[in-house]
Amino acid sequence: MDERLNILLELQSMDIRLDQIKIEKRQTPLDMKRLEEEFNVLKVTTEQDQITLKELKAELRNTERELEETEVKLKKSMLRLNEVKSNKEYQAILKEIEEIKEINAEQEEKVIKCMEDIEIQEKECSEGSLRWERNEKEYKIRKNEFINKGKELDQEEQTLNDKRSKLSDKVDKDLLNMYNRLRLNLKNEVVVQVRDGVCSGCHLGIPPQQYNDLIKTNSIQSCPNCNRIIYWGGAKES
Ligand SMILES: [Zn+2]
Repeated sequence: MDERLNILLELQSMDIRLDQIKIEKRQTPLDMKRLEEEFNVLKVTTEQDQITLKELKAELRNTERELEETEVKLKKSMLRLNEVKSNKEYQAILKEIEEIKEINAEQEEKVIKCMEDIEIQEKECSEGSLRWERNEKEYKIRKNEFINKGKELDQEEQTLNDKRSKLSDKVDKDLLNMYNRLRLNLKNEVVVQVRDGVCSGCHLGIPPQQYNDLIKTNSIQSCPNCNRIIYWGGAKES
């Protein structure tokens, strides 16, 4: 079979791989960016959990302080009960004590609620920090994978380009130009088989005379429909 065909086919498979590498190289930074974004969302959530915990603890401290103040007030009012002169005054202080007790009860309830919230939030935070550790590890591993993948692709591209340039030197200039022009316009496979009289690039039939000629001479020709470089499918195995 035509040696030029072998070289063209090899060139074509290299070019198809080189195109894939270009696509993969564009995709890798996008994948990495998505990973970073996912990681950042988790980071923000974990940080937010810690902030909420701090706020709850501050709220507890405030309420406890208020509670202490109320208790002092209550004690003072109780003491004043012993010093009252009139019944009216006595009643007024009693009313005041009732009010303080109500406030006191509300504050006690608030302290309990706060403590419960803190307990829940602390659990959330410790789970969050475990999740965070796991994710940080996974993030580092995957980031390394992306970096290595990028390096591998660069290396493969370099190797293929070197091979391609050596191989190109072996192809007839006109044929190479034709091939390059076709690849620029049509992408993917531009050197295609003709099977049962049909071009496998455009899936249209070629004239019977050209088909017979293709079989008889095992030559390289152009598809009259799509201009792809065509060869007889049966010729490849021969
Ligand atoms: Zn065609």
